[in-house]
Amino acid sequence: MANLILVSNRLSVSVEKKKGKLEFKPSMGGLATGLSSLDQKESLLWIGWPGLPAEELREEDGESIAPTLREKHGSIPVDLTREQLRSFYYGFCNNVIWPLFHYFPSYAAYDKALWESYRAVNSLFARKVLEVAGAEDTIWVHDYQLMLVPQLIREKVPEARIGFFLHIPFPSFEIFRLLPWRNEILTGLLGADLIGFHAYDYARHFISSVRRLLGVENSMGYVRHEHRLSRVDVFPMGIDYKKYSAALTSRVVQKQMGSAARELKGFKVILSVDRLDYTKGIPERLRGYELLLEHNPQYREKVVLLLIAVPSRTKVHHYRTLKKEVDELISTINGKYGTIGWVPIHYFYRGFHFERLSAFYGLADVLLVTPLRDGMNLVAKEFVAAHRDSGGVLILSETAGSAREMGEALLINPNNSEEIASALKTALEMEEEEQIERNAVMNERLSRYDIVAWTRDFLNKLVQVREVQDSYLVKKLAGSLKEQLIADYRRSERRLIILDYDGTLVPFSGRPQKAAPDRELVELLTVLSADPANDVVVASGRMRDAMNDWFAGLDLSLIACHGAWLKPKGKRWRLIEELSNEWKEQLRPIFLLFKDRTPGSLVEEKEYALAWHYRNAEPELAALRASEFKDILFSFTGDLGLDVLEGKNVLEIKPVNVSKARAVSMWLARDRWQFILAAGDDNNDEVMFSQLPESAYSIKIGPDISEARYYLDSPAHLRQLLAELAP
Ligand code: UDP
Repeated sequence: MANLILVSNRLSVSVEKKKGKLEFKPSMGGLATGLSSLDQKESLLWIGWPGLPAEELREEDGESIAPTLREKHGSIPVDLTREQLRSFYYGFCNNVIWPLFHYFPSYAAYDKALWESYRAVNSLFARKVLEVAGAEDTIWVHDYQLMLVPQLIREKVPEARIGFFLHIPFPSFEIFRLLPWRNEILTGLLGADLIGFHAYDYARHFISSVRRLLGVENSMGYVRHEHRLSRVDVFPMGIDYKKYSAALTSRVVQKQMGSAARELKGFKVILSVDRLDYTKGIPERLRGYELLLEHNPQYREKVVLLLIAVPSRTKVHHYRTLKKEVDELISTINGKYGTIGWVPIHYFYRGFHFERLSAFYGLADVLLVTPLRDGMNLVAKEFVAAHRDSGGVLILSETAGSAREMGEALLINPNNSEEIASALKTALEMEEEEQIERNAVMNERLSRYDIVAWTRDFLNKLVQVREVQDSYLVKKLAGSLKEQLIADYRRSERRLIILDYDGTLVPFSGRPQKAAPDRELVELLTVLSADPANDVVVASGRMRDAMNDWFAGLDLSLIACHGAWLKPKGKRWRLIEELSNEWKEQLRPIFLLFKDRTPGSLVEEKEYALAWHYRNAEPELAALRASEFKDILFSFTGDLGLDVLEGKNVLEIKPVNVSKARAVSMWLARDRWQFILAAGDDNNDEVMFSQLPESAYSIKIGPDISEARYYLDSPAHLRQLLAELAP
């Protein structure tokens, strides 16, 4: 039976030491719940750190715990020493990645030794996976601690099925670029077939970083890197909806709510629940609460804030400083406003189990969630689910991932304490009917996309990605397909070979005028065109003069200027039809304006076309300008009889009667061709591909979505094929 192999920093079972004896404590976290609901087509194996340093992980009799973990809990432990925990977990994960990805760049300590440890521990995890993973298995790697693992596995098993999910935000490029090891991290992630994020913004930031740092483009969420396609998609993690929506009906929970309610003597309850982490905005929240009391004396002795702060990463410096700050703020507020019968803030510096936490959810009139950054924030979702049939107002930071799905909450900017205070007031005064209405809408959403749906969605997408990849594999012109092509070529006596130039015969160059054919290419075309059975047509958007210079002396056919000029083999150049250039006067100033507004871009004036190239411009700005420019150009096309061509990093305008497809159709009609090969890389070549007869070998350069029957990876691969045809 195939395995689903979960790889995460922590196992779902933790090992604890009590009085020298090791105890196993399974924790039914969200992910484990989602997975347990899957049809058992695959058996589950979990790989991760069991929660104790390797030095303490031996039974009293010296036996390893690994067999028990594997047999009883389906888990495989990764041993991490105290030193690795210090440098990998507390060091790189929580002192570099965590702050940086949560927009606290000044907290990030870029220490090479910590990075080395991160790499070493990621290799350790990858090795554990490779020890057990078979060809049929699905590997699902989780979170920021293990971002190199996908590629490390891929290197050893290229055909592995790998998914990755990031549970924290992926920051904007401006932040991510600060990381000295940024390219390694991106490459590590791109080893996965599917890379999932909680929110669209995170996916967008990732794609933007991949484009800017690795120069890799994306198309419809697919990123092509090292001849592989990876899909980037959004999966906002859900909660165990059944559990939380039924929480308040449990007897235990009700009993706890009853006794706590008696203690709270009718105060309105504002609840706050998080790990004590600087990303959670706890000081800002306390200031907001203080402002509420300051500006609204009527709420004094009427409300309490229950502040649950679960101890977290206490070994990291910034967490200790934060603890001090929070302690002080609480004493200040309690000292300033408290009375004999009223403590404004009840502070719990510990974590609670499900039942106690649910009782708090049930008691609360308001849940105050104000992280400065949060990948998702599940507490907000759990509270709303618990209040499925009742009032209870959620105040939620707009910088939490969950805010994207919970628009009916009171959304606030967490840095604005005034806004927090005013949202608190609105919440405390909101009609119950409105509260119930808002909760009902959010519950509808939460119930549909719960943790079960989330898990299935991710794993189904992973299967789909593989199907898309496979469809490309079928089209790759290699092995027997290539042999067939060569055999067909050899047995034919009339052959038409149409070759686009830039991006097809030569790779793209920063400066278009630099892309003259090299000697190898000239020799190749010479041999190919010398065969009297062949008509070799180089079809390009280039100008006639350039093509004349480059291919002088060769017995080639040429199509220049996207089909405006035609030169059949052995004949002279001729225009496809009489063409006018009057439109240029009107459009040239707009082209120049866009050139000036987009540093790095340039305008090329061709005989019957104008082109704006933005290959060397800053990519995001260029993308923005290109869409603006396109709109303007389209508004001219109808009246002036023009057509807009969208190439790779180029926008071009030309008379509508001029097209490569039209020129190629003339060549198709010239003879009874027994063998046709056409290669191109651009949008402009797609129409050409679509008009070829079915038996033709149409080849797209680069594995992209295309009308072509086959693809080759690069111009070099096409040249290799042509060389085999013309030995
Ligand atoms: N939680 C808990 N006991 C507590 C406080 C929190 O079990 O005393 C749980 C809570 O139910 C939620 C998780 O911890 O499922 C916190 O997840 P969240 O996404 O809100 O924040 P994170 O800690 O992952 O940053």
